[in-house]
Amino acid sequence: MRKRISIIGSTGSIGTQALEVIEALGADKFEIYGLAAGSNTGLLNEQIKKFSPKKVCITKNSDDVNFNKVLTGEEGLIDIASDKENDIVLMAISGRYGLKPTLAAIHNGIDIALANKETLVMAGDIVMREAKKYNVNILPVDSEHSAIHQCIKKLSDVSKLIITASGGPFLNKSSFEMEHSDIKQVLHHPRWKMGKKITVDSATLMNKGLEVIEAHHLFGVDYDNIEVVIHPQSVVHSAIEYKDGSIIAQLGLPSMHIPIQYAITYPERLYGIKSNSFSFSEIARLDFSKPDFDKFPCLKLALEAGRKGGSSPIVMNAANEEAVYAFLDGKISYNNIYDIVYKIYNEISDCTPDNIDEIFELDKEVRLKTKELLSGAGIV
Ligand code: NDP
Ligand code: MG
Repeated sequence: MRKRISIIGSTGSIGTQALEVIEALGADKFEIYGLAAGSNTGLLNEQIKKFSPKKVCITKNSDDVNFNKVLTGEEGLIDIASDKENDIVLMAISGRYGLKPTLAAIHNGIDIALANKETLVMAGDIVMREAKKYNVNILPVDSEHSAIHQCIKKLSDVSKLIITASGGPFLNKSSFEMEHSDIKQVLHHPRWKMGKKITVDSATLMNKGLEVIEAHHLFGVDYDNIEVVIHPQSVVHSAIEYKDGSIIAQLGLPSMHIPIQYAITYPERLYGIKSNSFSFSEIARLDFSKPDFDKFPCLKLALEAGRKGGSSPIVMNAANEEAVYAFLDGKISYNNIYDIVYKIYNEISDCTPDNIDEIFELDKEVRLKTKELLSGAGIV
């Protein structure tokens, strides 16, 4: 079957790799229906020329896009994502902007290949409930969740999810080295080449915390039954333990092409791109250890926020995103990221937002408070 797909965030790390996968699979397998980007008009124009989409959206600089009727803003993202011509939509956008287009697509019965983990961190209960109601598949693109998805036969037989983490660039660095690290060191991830925000989150291990929350919602598994294991080689992408004690893991060399390809071609398992083979006899060793919560307090905080639920993950996620961008802008140091998230997390009182508008209101309040803190004295 030939699928029609739209890519929201086509100019990013996931978006461009998805287009490589689609090109490799061939025009008889996929047709690009819509492309949406933030500001990279040069790359978007190249993609339009190559893939001839029917719909295009860009949030900034729309005048520079070579397309007949360019959509803009959040309405444009929603328009493309929810268009019933789509068989599937890849949510490869970063940050909070993925949530509303995802819900709009679900409400029109369109399957989602989900890379944007913020969607589930902010509104996992609502998104999964709506997906069930509208009979929509949420297919994970995040490599750990793709691994788990590939391992699970019957969810009710599973007793535990084991999520692996490479440990990022600071796994073997001292607290002193981490405290005095610059942006370049933080962005130097040993295994994965990704967008800047997620790369910083991979250094603080906040990313792993977000992934535990993501896994909790995707697979409906209790936090007590999700374990994080440090595995520097990133060969075991994650594993599940069955109630009989058997563990099934998914292995392979690190590559995002494979989980993207798996998600968009599901339930088939097509391979336009084949990862280099992983050889058991050549790898020599695989290491596993427990995460050090003192060294990586963001992970501890994220796990606590996930357990608490309600407003906690929303507050933590928004404060973290603002703090990470302030770090990337050179305004704060690496250690300040946690300090800021911790302060805001404890400052904003708990509540239970039960619809999307309330979630976005809270998200906005947190970002304002975080920006105030960032511009004021005290933390910097
Ligand atoms: P990038 O920063 O590389 O790409 C983000 C994409 O979103 C770009 O196309 C960007 O457009 C677009 N975008 C950002 N803001 C807007 C906006 N307001 N309106 C429209 N488009 C927007 O991020 P990644 O590809 O690394 O990550 C994307 C998502 O996937 C994140 O949620 C991340 O956590 C998740 N993920 C990423 C992995 C990876 O390997 N990269 C692995 C697992 C999950 P432009 O560049 O034109 O401004
Ligand atoms: Mg991941």
